[in-house]
Amino acid sequence: MPTINQLTTYLELFAPLRLAEDWDNVGLLVGDRKAAADRVMTCLTVTPATAAEAIRRNANIIVTHHPLPFRPLKRITTDNVPGQMLYDLIRGGVAIYSPHTAFDSAEAGINQQLAQSLGLSNIKPLVDAEQETDPGSGRYGPWPESTTVQQVADILKSFLKIESVKCVGDPAHVVKKGAVACGSAGSFLGAAKRHGCDVFVTGETTFHTCLEAEALGIAMLLVGHYASERFACEKLAELIQSEFSDAEVWASKDESDPLRSI
Ligand SMILES: [Zn+2]
Repeated sequence: MPTINQLTTYLELFAPLRLAEDWDNVGLLVGDRKAAADRVMTCLTVTPATAAEAIRRNANIIVTHHPLPFRPLKRITTDNVPGQMLYDLIRGGVAIYSPHTAFDSAEAGINQQLAQSLGLSNIKPLVDAEQETDPGSGRYGPWPESTTVQQVADILKSFLKIESVKCVGDPAHVVKKGAVACGSAGSFLGAAKRHGCDVFVTGETTFHTCLEAEALGIAMLLVGHYASERFACEKLAELIQSEFSDAEVWASKDESDPLRSI
């Protein structure tokens, strides 16, 4: 049976923590490295629902994309939601590991997987890493054959299993080069434009970034923060399972997008 230390060593090979952004909080955030890690749950975010599932199903560790804790805490009490979740998880013997922006940027990380799902070729980072050998943030590349904004949206809908995508620009517009950055990544719009991309895909962004895309003449597709990253938690569970065959690994079943169209 693997220990938490063996699991985190493996996760750090897959998504080296030095790739994380400076403001981030990544790695083992709660737990005992010597403890067993034979029941592992992945999820996008630790919420009351995912924390309860981990405790109910006797997980030893949650591998969550979004960190908990994220900001420094002065106390862990049940007076607020993060404190309640941490208190319950620690009492339940559940550790927490978060790869977050290291997973976004990793060589086979979320943005690379998104770029590949779109059929982009010659995939490169939108923003280069400080160290030349590191994979950088976001991804972009050309399509082997021109496509349209609508066709890109259709691929995203089927890959991410979502009903709809929000679009800035003309869906019929022909596009040759695309950029992706998962999560809330409107700040990458300028880099996408500089690299000559016709369409930029992210999870969510502000109204003003939408106006900026329109003014710059670059189409933008918003798939939702949840959908832009949750698929990778399922893939990560499969990857951990194949590495540690005697552990039981699953992606949270109780997690869902808090936003819905009605
Ligand atoms: Zn995110």
